[in-house]
Amino acid sequence: MEVFSKKIDCCPHCGSKDRFYESLLNEMKASGRIDQKIDCFQFQAVEGVPLPQERVAMLPFGAEIPQFKMIWDSCKECGAVYSVEMSIRAARKSLEMPSVLEMPSVQPMSRAQRRHPDNRPFLNNTLGLS
Ligand SMILES: [Zn+2]
Repeated sequence: MEVFSKKIDCCPHCGSKDRFYESLLNEMKASGRIDQKIDCFQFQAVEGVPLPQERVAMLPFGAEIPQFKMIWDSCKECGAVYSVEMSIRAARKSLEMPSVLEMPSVQPMSRAQRRHPDNRPFLNNTLGLS
């Protein structure tokens, strides 16, 4: 399986390094209002596996499955929307079936799953206000 990882650090249109959502998050981090570990808003990140859940269910435990992740943002200078981070890595099917193996568009994580610390590398856009 091909492992792939790419980060794009400036706007492919105008070259600016200022990003809209990132700058908002950085302000909140600087003021100590959110955790330094948060990379992006939850809606900026798409994660999953390129297989339907039924197919994943048929695989033996320990089977290698590609797992993708994509983060996008908007250029604060010209407004272009572009990918900031793209990656494909090898994940293994485990007994616990981590929720990242669910197809997000088909089956969104439940509230309890989203609140699990393993599933919170991103800032949920509700900011825990719900
Ligand atoms: Zn730009």
